[in-house]
Amino acid sequence: MTVRAELYCYFCGHGLGEVLVPARTRRPSVEQLRAAYAAAGRESPTWSAADQPLCPRCGGQLFLERFDHEVVRPAERRALKRAS
Ligand SMILES: [Zn+2]
Repeated sequence: MTVRAELYCYFCGHGLGEVLVPARTRRPSVEQLRAAYAAAGRESPTWSAADQPLCPRCGGQLFLERFDHEVVRPAERRALKRAS
C-alpha cells in the first residue's frame, strides 16, 4: 500500500511536491513523511524540535494537502522516480 502525500504551506502558498509513502494507515506518520521527502531527493521541509514540518521559505507550518490510498504499480513507480 502506498499513500500519496503532499505538504503545502498555507501562509505563502509554497508546495513541497508529492511524495509516495509506504503506509498501512490512511494518513502517513511524521516519520514516514520525513523519510519520504529525504528519499525523494527534492526540497525537504524544515522539521521543528517538536517534529512539525515547517515551510523552508517562510517558516510557516505545513499541512498535508491531500492524501489517499494509492496502489502504485511497479511501472508507475519507475516513471515517478525518473521524472523527479
Ligand atoms: Zn511558506
